[in-house]
Amino acid sequence: MGATNNEPHTVEAYINGEVYKSGEHEPRVNPAKTDETAGYWPLNTVEDARRAIDAADAAFGAWRKTEMKDRIERMKKGIQKIKDNQHNLAELLSREHGKPLYDAEGELTVSIMFMEYAAENAERVYKEEINEDERGKNVLRHEPIGVVSAISPWNYPLALSTEKIAPALLAGNTMVLKPSPMAPLTVTEVTHMIAEEFPAGVLNIVHGDADVGIELTSNDKVRKIAFTGGTNTGKHIMKAAAETIKNVTLELGGNDPAIFLDDFDVNDEAAMRRVVISNFLTGGQICMIAKRMYVHESIYDQFIEKYIEAANKWLRIGDPTKKETTVGPVNNKNQLEFVQSLLDDSKKQGYEIKQLGKVDDEEFFEKGYFMYPTIVLGADYDSRIVAEEQFGPTVPILKFKDDAQAIELANDSELGLTSSVWGEEDHAIEVSRHIEAGVTMVNTAAIQGLDIRFPFGGVKQSGIGREYGEEGMLEYVDSHVINIPATKDLPNIPQ
Ligand code: NAD
Repeated sequence: MGATNNEPHTVEAYINGEVYKSGEHEPRVNPAKTDETAGYWPLNTVEDARRAIDAADAAFGAWRKTEMKDRIERMKKGIQKIKDNQHNLAELLSREHGKPLYDAEGELTVSIMFMEYAAENAERVYKEEINEDERGKNVLRHEPIGVVSAISPWNYPLALSTEKIAPALLAGNTMVLKPSPMAPLTVTEVTHMIAEEFPAGVLNIVHGDADVGIELTSNDKVRKIAFTGGTNTGKHIMKAAAETIKNVTLELGGNDPAIFLDDFDVNDEAAMRRVVISNFLTGGQICMIAKRMYVHESIYDQFIEKYIEAANKWLRIGDPTKKETTVGPVNNKNQLEFVQSLLDDSKKQGYEIKQLGKVDDEEFFEKGYFMYPTIVLGADYDSRIVAEEQFGPTVPILKFKDDAQAIELANDSELGLTSSVWGEEDHAIEVSRHIEAGVTMVNTAAIQGLDIRFPFGGVKQSGIGREYGEEGMLEYVDSHVINIPATKDLPNIPQ
C-alpha cells in the first residue's frame, strides 16, 4: 500500500483470488471534514455476494485438507504485510473513521496481536486428540465448518474483522467478509493483504448494506455466521440463520455499567485519567465501555469534581490526525443525531448536562460531525440516557447507596457485554462476581481491560458465543468424535 495523502482512496472487492471491479462506487465522507471524501467503496450486488459465496464454497474442499503448517505460514505472511504498512493503514483508518491517530494505531496493534496469537496457537488448539484407556479409544477431531460469512460494524472495523479471519482460515474454513459502509476502506486493504497469501476463494470481501448482508446470512452454502453489530441486526441474523440451522457467533450491543465503590480513591489522578479516557475512547463509540456509571453516594460529589477536572485536562477534541487529539468526531450523521436526541430528552426531563474538554479550533469543529463530550447528572435509573446504548460521547453518572443496590442496578438490563468495578481490589473482585456480563474489568475499562488470550463476548441480549482466546478459536470448528469402545456391545442383552 502506498503512502496515503489527502486524495480519496478507492477500494475494490476481492473474489476468487482476484480484485473484483464493480461498476458503482459510493463515497465515504471524512467525518472530521464533511466536505472531504476519504475514499470510494464498491456497491456490490446480491449477485456479487453469491459469486463470492460460490468461490468460497468451491475452495473449501481443497483448503480443509491443507497442512496446518502451510496455513500458519500464509497467515504470518499476511500479518507481516499489515505490520509493514501499519502507519499508512492507521492514517487511512483515522481519515475514514474519525478516530484519532493514537486510537487507530491501537486498533492495528490489537488486530495484529490477536492474529499472531491465533497463528501461534492454531497447531495446539485445533490438534487431533487421541484418548485411550480401559473404556476404549476416542479420537477427537476439530473439523472446519465450511463457508463462513463474517459481518463487521464500523466502530472497530479492522479488529472486529481480523479476529474472525485469522481463526476461521487457520481452522480450515473459507470466508466471505462484509464490512460496514461507514468504515469500508482500511479493512479492505487489510483483507486484500491477507487474501493474496491464500489460494483463490479462501478469503473474499464484498461490500454493501443490508441486502448483501441478508444474502450472506441466508444463502444455503453458508455454514457459519460470525457477526458483530447491534442487537436488533443480530435478531434478524438469527432468524435468517434458523432456516438452514447455521452455526452463529453473535457479538452484539452493550450498555456496560461501571461501579465506583465507596473505597475508590477519587484523588488517584492516574485512575481518574483512565476513567475519563476510557469513557470517551473512539468518541464513546465502543461496545465495551462504561455507558452508565454508578458512584457510591459517600464519594459522589468529590468524584464529579475530580472527574470534570481530569476531563478538562485530557479530553482534547479536534482534528483526529493531530498527535495531541484524544477525541475525534462522531463517525456518521445518524449516530450524531441519535446521541443528540438522547441529550435533548435528558434536557426535557430536567437532568443536568455538563460539557467537558477543550476544542482548540472552533472553525474546524464546525466542519465535521463533532459534538462536545458530556456527562448527564441527576437522571432517573430508568431514563432513556441510562437504559439505551448511546454509542457516542456522553455518559450518565448516578448515585447508589450500597453494594447490593449497585449490583441490582448494574444487572437491570437486557444487555450484558462488559462491565467494570473500581475500588479496593479484593472488594471490587467480590462485587464483580455478581455482575451479569461476559467480562468484568477491575480498576480499568475499554481496550485497556481486554486480554486477547481470554474469551470475550456477552450474556443475555449482548450475544452468543465468544471471540478471542482458545474458546474464540474453537467457535470455528465442529468437534467430530471417532469412538472405538473397548466393549462394543450393549450391556445386558437378553441371551
Ligand atoms: P449494525 O448492526 O447496524 O451493522 C453491523 C453490520 O451488519 C454492518 O456491516 C451492516 O451493513 C450489516 N447489516 C445490517 N443489516 C443487516 C442484515 N439484515 N443482515 C445482515 N447484515 C446486516 O451495527 P453498527 O451500527 O455498524 O455497529 C454498532 C453496534 O455494534 C453497537 O450496538 C455496538 O455495541 C455493536 N458492537 C458490538 C461489539 C461486540 O463485540 N459485542 C463490538 C463492536 C460493536
